[in-house]
Amino acid sequence: MNQPAPIQKQAIESVADIAGVNPLRDALVDAGLLIPTGVQGLFGRSGEFEHVVEALDALITRLGADQQAEVLRFPPAMSRPDFERSEYLKGFPQLAGTVHSFCGGEHEQQRVLQCLERGEDWTEYQKPTYVVFAPAACYPVYPVMARRGALPEEGRIVDAFSYCFRHEPSLDPTRMQLFRMREYIRFGTPEQIQAFRSEWIERGTRMIEMLELPNSIDLANDPFFGRGGKIVARSQREQNLKFELLIPIESDDRLTACLSFNYHMDHFGLLWGIKASDESVAHTGCVGFGLERLTLGLFRHHGFDIAKWPKTVCDVLWGHA
Ligand code: ATP
Ligand code: ZN
Repeated sequence: MNQPAPIQKQAIESVADIAGVNPLRDALVDAGLLIPTGVQGLFGRSGEFEHVVEALDALITRLGADQQAEVLRFPPAMSRPDFERSEYLKGFPQLAGTVHSFCGGEHEQQRVLQCLERGEDWTEYQKPTYVVFAPAACYPVYPVMARRGALPEEGRIVDAFSYCFRHEPSLDPTRMQLFRMREYIRFGTPEQIQAFRSEWIERGTRMIEMLELPNSIDLANDPFFGRGGKIVARSQREQNLKFELLIPIESDDRLTACLSFNYHMDHFGLLWGIKASDESVAHTGCVGFGLERLTLGLFRHHGFDIAKWPKTVCDVLWGHA
């Protein structure tokens, strides 16, 4: 058998990055809740962890039962043409993940195997495919809505759920590279989106209170890239476009965004040509639930043993089974 190849020189995360200490991550790994892979932010999950994720997902479904949301599920990826049109590369090129595949013949395959054996760069023959990781659960939904024609007068609400990829390797277990996001996405008039968002800030807060987790709501901005991005982020704040529900998880004095409440105004409507019922440009907004972060919050505050969680919290999560 060949020896495993050493880490490639061109890899973005160095070996040194993989090592390092984070008390919460190390405790979660020791307890078997997260299974490390050797890459920052890429974990396996235990049965207990998934038990909580599934209960949270079901709780979000119950909370949104009156919305008559249309359920749409996509794989954790979207088409490259749709991704290009979404302008994600304008705002967040640093977070994007594209899928590449081997596109050579037998000769090139021999080269790849040789490179692997020598620990050299083998990626020369990996070419971009038409598949790009979804950066948020709502991204594959907009083109689908645009193709449907003008919205009905009451607008639409879509229920989406997906693993999402963001290239933000970190020792902090609440900042993963692949994580699950549940979303309700609202399409309609500015008034409909604003009302939807206020309603969900309230419902989201109620949900976290029922789970007995410390929380606060704050104005936020997305991590727009570069110098121009700072200006976009400031304007996003000035216009009150993004709020987050924050929970202390990784440390007591650092708050982690677990839910986000976004008003995109006509950004996606213009990009995708989504029309309101009166043929004006539709406005959109979404509420996003980070299922791993919420699960980690519960383990952090109620302990690593679910059997010892407060009965009131277990009733909220599993009382409806
Ligand atoms: P942050 O400010 O911490 O980078 P965000 O506000 O950019 O997060 P959103 O883009 O609003 O996150 O995504 C919606 C939800 O997805 C967040 O509220 C969070 O719960 C979850 N989320 C975002 N990034 C990550 C990540 N790297 N790991 C785990 N969950 C994440
Ligand atoms: Zn969204």
